Amino acid sequence: MSDPIKRDGLRREFWTRVPMAKMTEAEWEALCDGCGKCCLNKLEDADTGEVALTRVACRLLDDATCRCTQYDIRHQFVPDCIRLTPETVAKHMYWLPRTCAYRLVYEGRDLFDWHPLISGDSQTVQEAGVSVQDQTVSEFETPEDEWEDHIIEEPL
Ligand code: SF4
Ligand code: SF4
Repeated sequence: MSDPIKRDGLRREFWTRVPMAKMTEAEWEALCDGCGKCCLNKLEDADTGEVALTRVACRLLDDATCRCTQYDIRHQFVPDCIRLTPETVAKHMYWLPRTCAYRLVYEGRDLFDWHPLISGDSQTVQEAGVSVQDQTVSEFETPEDEWEDHIIEEPL
């Protein structure tokens, strides 16, 4: 599958030397590895604030490709889909997946070698087993009161 995220014409290894707030929009978007983990519904414990990941995917996620099927117009269908920006990324740290490139860069860590910016191939994310490919159930078919039965460990 070709990579829907444009990753050419970007500054060389920009993620290692350009502060998030100074990244271009294309660089910011290219940071996403396409794992799809942020598109899984989460359950948050009201008392402890602990967040559990479920395999129940957002209605717009295609779990064969791990991509949002309507990314550019997704808010028409899913108004509360998070828009990560350099300004908002800090407040989302508590739930962002451990391998999420926005988390890694925010924390000053290296990207994994399976990240498409390193490997040059979007398929390496699937090959490394860190994506949600073929692992989800639809939120259309899974009532919210059953989500607890679908809690999973983050694929790492
Ligand atoms: S978890 Fe992070 S890297 Fe993975 S798809 Fe979501 S935003 Fe992109
Ligand atoms: S709307 Fe798209 S980007 Fe947002 S959670 Fe759903 S599948 Fe993911």
